[in-house]
Amino acid sequence: MTSFRSLTARQETILSKNGIGSPRELLLNFPFRYEDRRNAKAVAAITAGEWATVLATVLDKKMRRSFRGRVGILEAVITDGRGNLHVVWFNQPWLDRAVEKGKMYYFFGRASLFPTRGGQRLQLENPDVEEFRDDGRESIHAGRIVPVYRKIGSFGTKSLRTMMHKVLQKEDIEEPLPSSVMKSEGFPGAREAFSEIHFPGDEKAAAACSARSSGAARRFVFEELFSFEIMAMEEAVRRRTEKARPIRKDPAVGDLLRKSLPFALTGAQKRVFREISDDLSSDRPMYRLLQGDVGSGKTMMAFLSMAWAALSGFQAAYMAPTETLAFQVFLRFSEMAGKLGLKPGLLLSSTRAAGRKDILAGLKSGRLRTVIGTHALFQEGVEYDNLNLVVIDEQHRFGVRQRAALAAKGVNPHLLAMTATPIPRSLALTLYGDLDVSALDELPPNRAEVVTAVRNENSRDKIEDFARRIMDSGKQVIYVFPQIEENEAMDLQAAANAFDRYRLGPYRGYPAALLHGRMKPSEKEQVMDSMRRRETLLLVATTVVEVGIDLPRAGMIVVENAERFGLAQLHQLRGRVGRGGEKGYCVLMTGKEPSKLSSERLRVLEETSDGFKIAEEDLRLRGAGELAGVRQWGVSQFVFADPARDLRMIEKARAYAEKFFKGGLFVNEAEKAKFEEWQRESAKKFRLFSRGG
Ligand code: ADP
Ligand code: MG
Repeated sequence: MTSFRSLTARQETILSKNGIGSPRELLLNFPFRYEDRRNAKAVAAITAGEWATVLATVLDKKMRRSFRGRVGILEAVITDGRGNLHVVWFNQPWLDRAVEKGKMYYFFGRASLFPTRGGQRLQLENPDVEEFRDDGRESIHAGRIVPVYRKIGSFGTKSLRTMMHKVLQKEDIEEPLPSSVMKSEGFPGAREAFSEIHFPGDEKAAAACSARSSGAARRFVFEELFSFEIMAMEEAVRRRTEKARPIRKDPAVGDLLRKSLPFALTGAQKRVFREISDDLSSDRPMYRLLQGDVGSGKTMMAFLSMAWAALSGFQAAYMAPTETLAFQVFLRFSEMAGKLGLKPGLLLSSTRAAGRKDILAGLKSGRLRTVIGTHALFQEGVEYDNLNLVVIDEQHRFGVRQRAALAAKGVNPHLLAMTATPIPRSLALTLYGDLDVSALDELPPNRAEVVTAVRNENSRDKIEDFARRIMDSGKQVIYVFPQIEENEAMDLQAAANAFDRYRLGPYRGYPAALLHGRMKPSEKEQVMDSMRRRETLLLVATTVVEVGIDLPRAGMIVVENAERFGLAQLHQLRGRVGRGGEKGYCVLMTGKEPSKLSSERLRVLEETSDGFKIAEEDLRLRGAGELAGVRQWGVSQFVFADPARDLRMIEKARAYAEKFFKGGLFVNEAEKAKFEEWQRESAKKFRLFSRGG
């Protein structure tokens, strides 16, 4: 059974271990960037530090060993007829055979200065090499715009480039889209589109692929959305026929719940709780998204629902995005639930052996009715007695598979997802089929005002002055540094450096702590604990605090490089201050030279505190492609599409999906069968609540 004619058995095995079983699946791994290696440079024109392509002949070469003899070093001298250049490769012994004296090659690599006895010389280090052919065959790694890939198993970018090229040349490539769609949309065929994406002919094509704006890229965006919409419609139909166990409305239970509340519900909370309880008491599973600004009282809604489920004899689980957050929710819920005689469990990945065993036993026997935790809640070995309600906080932090796995632990449990990211209702519906949406659009009373100001480096001294005054009055100050995944180490360093500087400089003598994503949960907990006890006044943190941590005494938050955050995210961050009835301060620091656009964008936050308005402004100012909230919101299942950017394409895909169910999309049965087979495979990654997913 070979699926690839052009690859070796070994290559095929490695690919299949990485979930790639067909030419199409391989080609769907798009390059994440391109390198322009078209213009070969004259050797004499190369300067130190630059990446250059050189077309040159090997004059001489020799293999030697490094001092300790462990690493083979291949050295060569190459010439382009006018100048000579040294080339060195470390630890790539096979190159000794591949690079021959007298032959011409493309070399692509970085030129650097290397110290020698007489002074220094320029050399290329570990360049890619490819033999120059004048037989008209294309070269793959040089003399063109070349694709750069993320690793797949042990395959690096060069092997992948070779394989992609071979597969494109030699294999049959399946075309799943119905011919009627291809025709009316004018999409390029699969092979043509793949070729352009992997080996674009010029920089315009390469840029268009990266921006997903070329026809070649659009067709894959469409494919993905089309498949998603069909799946979503199928799920919607399926869910309508599903049965759930109703949690009956019982006046006695209602009384108990009301008495346990420390305050009166807002009008919005009452309305939302009615919506939730109507769902829960029906025999169809709830599938509801609760939106509401930070501090609007979502968590309270979750607590009430969980307590109700528990008092009615069912189990309820609350899944938080981080351990720290889970712990905080646990503390708050314990307090409220205690009055009702409920004792919640806490289950984290870091929960140790004995405690863990106890909780697992409690969940299995049904002794524990409520549990709070992270994704550890649905790892293997966790069994529930009668789980009937699952609450997912900030659901975008969870992968689809994790959600599916948790849903699979209960027999059709009711699901309540909560998010502070405002997303237009129409988009939510398009993405989630028949998901119901509730909105908490009213803040609880006594909410303190947060004064927001956009500032730059020039004001740093004044801000520090102000921060000291805040701390002198016993309130806390938080500094937040952006942390983006690709650059985690560097961002962490920035926060750590600032921390050191503050402790020795402007904030000398104020108890300070550093909080970042790489810390162990127990270390984070210690920091949070010292914040709660107000033993720490100054907290320097990477964005780990972003999602909903309750810091009642923070009087001021300073966000560094604020232009690197989305507005919605900044809005969430400033929700960290000004609780507990006192005025809070939020300073948005811009870098040295903020663009006019980014300052204008940040000013929106000075002017309004309405989360939905802020999201809309973000959309207007940055363009749909940058709506950070939407991007992080439950859409991680897309590889090519970006719901914020591709709203029109989503609508198109939805219209075609409707046509798919109505009939009339295919020219014949064979085309239909081929499409349906493809759809079964490609929709797998989307399945939201498939059992055992
Ligand atoms: P969210 O989860 O939406 O950020 P929370 O449920 O954590 O909001 O509520 C934020 C704060 O407001 C909490 O301290 C909570 O106890 C308090 N709170 C919630 N609802 C009310 C209400 N109706 N009246 C007064 N305070 C409330
Ligand atoms: Mg919350």
